[in-house]
Amino acid sequence: MNHPSPEALLDLALDLLPPSEAEGLRRHVEECPRCAAACARLAEEQEVLREGLAPHTPPPELVGRVRSAVARERARPRPTRRAQWLAAAVVLIAAGMGWVLLGARPTPKQQLLMQVRRSELLALQEERP
Ligand SMILES: [Zn+2]
Repeated sequence: MNHPSPEALLDLALDLLPPSEAEGLRRHVEECPRCAAACARLAEEQEVLREGLAPHTPPPELVGRVRSAVARERARPRPTRRAQWLAAAVVLIAAGMGWVLLGARPTPKQQLLMQVRRSELLALQEERP
């Protein structure tokens, strides 16, 4: 039996063939289990692709939740310079106390981190009115 090429079967599945050619192929597929199976697989794959590509409208409650989360985030007051300075000071003091209490010397990485925090603190102090 002369089977149509996979490309022809794909064209048939995608409805890309002229009616006369499509009719001939359909007749073959109806009588040929092998091509029928191939066409069924193609149809399944097409369905998967269609579902994957179909535009999806999110449920309204999800849209509402996202919008109110964005609005809440925008309305949240930003920390003031003073609060940032205090937070940096607390972190620095806590880090220093931790090392003192543990009696451990800070590692080079911790020393570098401490220097960065110290310079951040100094920069914040300079910016204060
Ligand atoms: Zn066939």
